Amino acid sequence: MKEHGKVVLITGASSGIGAATARRLAADGHRVFLGARRTERLEELCAEIGKGGGTAAFGRLDVTSAADMETFVQAARTAFGQVDVVVNNAGVMPLSPLEALKVDEWDRMIDVNVRGVLHGIAAALPVMRGQGGGHFITLASIGAYEVSPTAAVYCATKFAVRAISEGLRQESTGDIRVSVVSPGVTESELADSITDPVAREAMVHYRSVALPASAIADAIAFAVAQPPEVDVNEIVVRPARTR
Ligand code: NDP
Repeated sequence: MKEHGKVVLITGASSGIGAATARRLAADGHRVFLGARRTERLEELCAEIGKGGGTAAFGRLDVTSAADMETFVQAARTAFGQVDVVVNNAGVMPLSPLEALKVDEWDRMIDVNVRGVLHGIAAALPVMRGQGGGHFITLASIGAYEVSPTAAVYCATKFAVRAISEGLRQESTGDIRVSVVSPGVTESELADSITDPVAREAMVHYRSVALPASAIADAIAFAVAQPPEVDVNEIVVRPARTR
């Protein structure tokens, strides 16, 4: 294992892709600082990584709060001295047809998937600028490229974070790298929040072809591993099997 790799902050690290990414990046020798609301899971994951010889710490984080995100980034800085990479991974996906009018669920997707990413940028960008550079990696989705029934609002949030990431890239003077990683269906807890019966039923099929979360962690690790002059902007990873 390499020592003293990058300092990587991962939001939504208590399950799925975030947890797999924490394991993978820690195994690659990076120091990971993990955030989510379920801190008992983060504590267990940090202990597991520590036992394996990696370096991990955590902080409670609700990405919908700009103040929480600020505290999280500063805590990572205090723990590890710098902030090299922020993986904006936290997300929710309570799918439903628009006519079901689940306005609270629409709001939650916008708050977590869009505002959460903006809060990550707001908290970490000044830190990265101050230290001479950094790297944002944001989890979008294949739903950032095309819309499907029951996924209008979810896709809108993922189109939005692709747009925000592209804007950030264009405004960078070479010091800030920006990557968008867009998974197809992947094993995780993401679909557990679906309350609409039709959307929930549709996920049963998709889950049968799901990729392991480690496949997405591998893509993130590839972007992290590039030298400073290389900015991997977009990675789309789909299951090879469609049925
Ligand atoms: P999971 O549901 O397994 O993980 C989501 C993570 O987000 C959890 O750790 C959860 O932690 C965290 N989270 C949710 N709300 C908040 C919040 N308010 N503040 C902080 N953390 C929060 O799903 P995935 O691993 O699949 O999702 C990771 C990302 O990948 C998401 O952005 C998702 O949209 C994207 N994605 C996933 C796909 C898939 O098929 N799995 C496909 C395409 C994209 P906690 O509840 O403890 O706070």
